Amino acid sequence: MNSLKYFIINAIETMLRMVPFPTKTGVIKIGNPDRNSPVFLTCNFHLTVERVKRALKGMDCYLLVAKSKGINVWCAATGGLFTHHDVISVLKTSGIEELVDHRKVILPQLAATGIEGKIVRQKSDWHVIWGPVYAKDIPAFIRNKLKKNVQMRVVRFPFVQRVEMAIAWAFPISSIAALLILPFWRHLILPLSALIWGMSFFIFLAFPLFENRLSARGKRIGFIVFDFGRGGIQLALWGFFLLLVFGYAAAFHQVNANFILRWSFITLVTTLLFSMDLMGSTPVFKSSLHEDRLLKISIDNNKCKTAGFCELVCPRNCYEIDRHAHNTTIPRADYCVQCGACIVQCPYDALFFKGSDGKILTPEKIRKYKLNLSGKHLVKVG
Ligand code: SF4
Ligand code: SF4
Repeated sequence: MNSLKYFIINAIETMLRMVPFPTKTGVIKIGNPDRNSPVFLTCNFHLTVERVKRALKGMDCYLLVAKSKGINVWCAATGGLFTHHDVISVLKTSGIEELVDHRKVILPQLAATGIEGKIVRQKSDWHVIWGPVYAKDIPAFIRNKLKKNVQMRVVRFPFVQRVEMAIAWAFPISSIAALLILPFWRHLILPLSALIWGMSFFIFLAFPLFENRLSARGKRIGFIVFDFGRGGIQLALWGFFLLLVFGYAAAFHQVNANFILRWSFITLVTTLLFSMDLMGSTPVFKSSLHEDRLLKISIDNNKCKTAGFCELVCPRNCYEIDRHAHNTTIPRADYCVQCGACIVQCPYDALFFKGSDGKILTPEKIRKYKLNLSGKHLVKVG
């Protein structure tokens, strides 16, 4: 694929990021692989497949594309839509077993929340190797003899990703707003779209300036994608805007329904934009609508055998393992995004989540029930 086509696909699929984009599953040959070439696996979200193919350019290897309902790796694995069943299915049906002599498959690290490496090994004889978080690090990972350094393990929220998220927010919101006002205020479409795009970019580009003020703790009110903050502060803000609109209309004798409706709508869109679930739109915070953001990762040191899987799959580098002293600690537990990957992969069930009320969420439950859209552990993985 040439660079222009790749750029256009990136632009379109970034604007439609919230929508699943499934692509064909199966095996893709990259370069001239032989029977000892590495085998990579990813989900069937089209943009991810294109990015992984680009990262693998110049290598001789196989890329397996497994079913994830057209959703990206982390979201699909966390939501129970990209599981060991999907991995085993593509390993067994794609014909890859006839193409290579080894049985090692490299998976994206962020799939570790939903794919149990142990089950893949038990049911298919394939050994799972957890690759880097970002596809761009694959060449360095291969050069490093399949070992990951901290940079390859940790999720960040760099400038380019923040721009992508701003576009992913702005496009659907401005499109919906434009459709809603099209019959009444056609002339407002351009200024309102400019406001929405400008605010989206402002919110995401300024993220590093207010990141430290975001707190995962405390009760919030919100539904699906909106988080109205503590005590519904954003709704109160909209109420204040409405007072201003009515006050202005009364003071300047502009009391006509059109004026009031128009400004009520504009202030509502502004309020909703500031109420979007920002934490859920970043890879460095758990969605503020998810109750399990309040859970604390905990370890039972009597069970831990310092196997190190937790450190290998944690996208926030929470762990410290002292193999000489046979000791595992979680010194950076505050950075945890409650993804559950470490719990799912720990072979000795030494990890679990603890609620603020002392309630324990066992490894069995974390493995079995994935999160639905509103952040409840309700989706059962068979
Ligand atoms: S907690 Fe589990 S995965 Fe982590 S080092 Fe201990 S035994 Fe290994
Ligand atoms: S410590 Fe937290 S962020 Fe790290 S893998 Fe475990 S649940 Fe995920």
